[in-house]
Amino acid sequence: MPALTQCDSLCADASKVIIHTVERLADQMHQTSRHLYEHPELSGEEYESSRLLAGLAAAYGFEVEFGVAGLPTAFRAIKRGKVPGPKVAMLAEYDALPVVGHGCGHNWIGTASTFAAIALGEAVTDLPGEVQLIGTPAEETDGHKITMLEAGVFDGVAAAMMMHPSLNTEIAYSSLACISVIAEFHGKSAHAAASPWKGVNALDAMIQLFVNLGLALKQLPPTAKAPGVIHKGGERANVIPEHTVASFSLRGRDREEAELVLRRLIECGEAASRATGARFEWHQDGNIYYEMRPDDGLASIFREAWLSVGGEQPIHHSVPHGSLDIGNLSHRFPCLHPSIRITTDNTIGGHTREFADASISPFAQEQMVRAVQALALTGLGVLTGHPAFNDQRG
Ligand SMILES: [Zn+2]
Ligand SMILES: [Zn+2]
Repeated sequence: MPALTQCDSLCADASKVIIHTVERLADQMHQTSRHLYEHPELSGEEYESSRLLAGLAAAYGFEVEFGVAGLPTAFRAIKRGKVPGPKVAMLAEYDALPVVGHGCGHNWIGTASTFAAIALGEAVTDLPGEVQLIGTPAEETDGHKITMLEAGVFDGVAAAMMMHPSLNTEIAYSSLACISVIAEFHGKSAHAAASPWKGVNALDAMIQLFVNLGLALKQLPPTAKAPGVIHKGGERANVIPEHTVASFSLRGRDREEAELVLRRLIECGEAASRATGARFEWHQDGNIYYEMRPDDGLASIFREAWLSVGGEQPIHHSVPHGSLDIGNLSHRFPCLHPSIRITTDNTIGGHTREFADASISPFAQEQMVRAVQALALTGLGVLTGHPAFNDQRG
């Protein structure tokens, strides 16, 4: 039985190659995910992780180019089909977080995209087109998919796809736009007990910014968010802090809403500055993440493929949650980013040690087999002109 219903005999044969390749390589796939989990590397420092995944692609016949877009831990691996045709890009992420390691499960993502590319690559030799595995660093900080997009790495790509481990299986969902900001206050030091009136307290100003912004958010839509942390709050309790630094991750339903949150932050910072006398400064930190616009055609091919390989019924959840740097790509060409349930424990949340542990559980590994088959079959749908994809291009 072909996994895709809109399939001629060439496509049906390719479907079988994909399904069998993923089954055959399942152990290697699970070891890869576990290896990344055991060796987490922070954003921009993913030297071993990127080499491991690119090395696997090379072992299965891909030509690998490292350092694309001037990023040392970015790569592009290409395997060409019989004749020129559509280019399908599988996107691998592999950066971890401080403290919680692979608390976002990018070990699962990097592995899944790599083996989806390998499985589709085993089939592509009889098909038109090209399979690319693109290694995209620093999703948690700089969002280097955006850097790579601007550098032309995705030029000519017909569709880009990847999956994220999650608490639910959901195929087409949006994400929040995100603007990262560094905020600083400059005051004046003084003895905090003997002569505080001679100082200007930069920490008081920072605390006011947090309080002001927290209150301002009450009057904004629920998709507007502004989590922040203080990196520098002063050195000694008996010295008035003269310089404080915080970072904020400003979110909104779309770029306009995230910019509204930024305007509120600036107003709150200026108000804190007037109240305390500390000088306020801010700057944007890294790329702006746009909201994800999932492609309906790719989503319908994935849904069909996922159900055909025994995947569970996906949920539909309309409220966007996190932010994704694939969002910017989705404004330029068709993109797919389903989430796949990897745990049955709903008390676990992302960006935690527990989620990292869940990413290598037997259930997460089982789900990965089906998910990788479905993702590679979706890539096959693009290469072979599945009507759901072609209709979208119409
Ligand atoms: Zn994350
Ligand atoms: Zn993530």
